[in-house]
Amino acid sequence: TKFSELNLNPKVLKAIEEAGYETPTPIQEGAIPPALEGKDVLGIAQTGTGKTASFTLPMITLLNRGRARARMPRSLVLCPTRELAAQVAENFDVYAKYTKLTKALLIGGVSFKEQDALIDKGVDVLIATPGRLLDHFERGKLLLTGVQIMVVDEADRMLDMGFIPDIERIFGLTPFTRQTLFFSATMASEIERITNTFLSAPERIEV
Ligand code: AMP
Repeated sequence: TKFSELNLNPKVLKAIEEAGYETPTPIQEGAIPPALEGKDVLGIAQTGTGKTASFTLPMITLLNRGRARARMPRSLVLCPTRELAAQVAENFDVYAKYTKLTKALLIGGVSFKEQDALIDKGVDVLIATPGRLLDHFERGKLLLTGVQIMVVDEADRMLDMGFIPDIERIFGLTPFTRQTLFFSATMASEIERITNTFLSAPERIEV
């Protein structure tokens, strides 16, 4: 398969071509088509497999098809660590370069001020760690009722770090009708339980 056969937005294709990507990796080949069809995806993949692009590229394509909702984030990406969230944000900037989509990176260790300003202005995508996201929510700064696509990245590390209750709470703050793209390197029974609860007939891709 070529990237050009995957129904991605031409602006996304241009950006990945510039990034030097030639062919989709197996997780990308498996996850992108169902994600673009609006299906839930359960991706079992390690870091280094290209999993970030496997959720970011369809997310950008889908958001670009829809209409911006003033001040409401339409997509939420949850990552276990600040470093991983920052990496996802960097990738988003590369892949969304030719679109008008905007993002905010919501992680701890930095002041709320800049993040508040971005949220107030309105962004399409939130890339966040669970703790900082819930901090913003509790401060009354953030509504997640406009979230159409929610991504959980490295769920197994979320489990190791004790974030599963936070994740469950955040799922509950988003619309029941959202699309969920869920990634984990392993499928512990607790992860299996979460996916059974919050994913709807997911396409399961294991690489
Ligand atoms: P990830 O598994 O998402 O952390 O990606 C690992 C690395 O592979 C990152 O540096 C990506 O930029 C790169 N990458 C992802 N997809 C592709 C691809 N289809 N072709 C070449 N490099 C890629």
